[in-house]
Amino acid sequence: MKLDEKGLLVVISGPSGVGKGTVRNALFQREGHNLVYSISMTTRKPRPGEVNGREYYFVSQEEFENRIKNNQFLEYAQFVGNYYGTPLDMVEQKLNEGNEVVLEIEVQGAMQVRKKMDNAVFIFIAPPTMKDLLHRLQNRGSESNEVIQMRYEKACREIELAYMYDYIVVNDTVDNAADKIMAIIRAEHAKTIRTMSGYKKLLEEGKK
Ligand code: 5GP
Repeated sequence: MKLDEKGLLVVISGPSGVGKGTVRNALFQREGHNLVYSISMTTRKPRPGEVNGREYYFVSQEEFENRIKNNQFLEYAQFVGNYYGTPLDMVEQKLNEGNEVVLEIEVQGAMQVRKKMDNAVFIFIAPPTMKDLLHRLQNRGSESNEVIQMRYEKACREIELAYMYDYIVVNDTVDNAADKIMAIIRAEHAKTIRTMSGYKKLLEEGKK
């Protein structure tokens, strides 16, 4: 029996190249979960193989700024010259339906969510070593040296902020990292604070 009926908002951050997307895919391939991925909106151009509405909603700067004015984002941030944001409507709807909503966002955005949603859980994915991270950025092959250098410098600054998260998961192997995230989600659901309404129902039933 489940005492906690509400969905959990799971915020995952980590530097570019740490393998967040791969870990997320492994997570979603597990059986018996009700995880839903929140597709972000961005003004960045699609990378080869990326599809509008699957990896991101790709929009113009003008459209993004209109949505900011209309308060349509749970959070948004600028990252290496582009806007990225989480559309609010879908997150609210899916949480109300009892799903776990997974956001994969950078640190500034995560801190905005921290201020708005006190029940969310914050997980930072870290690389085993910085050398490992640089190699992964270089091997992605889709960006210029200048962009790689910018992303690497940004990664160093993001890792400095990992202490603000509830959990730090090292991506040593993809399966291991996905296991740890699944374990965190299960444990979070069992927290006394989250089970209060179900617990009260148990108490009432016991009185009858
Ligand atoms: P990329 O361009 O590599 O897809 O993403 C760059 C960074 O933006 C990554 O750290 C990614 O997690 C982050 N990001 C993706 N979507 C969002 C979003 O909706 N909001 C924020 N704040 N960051 C995002």
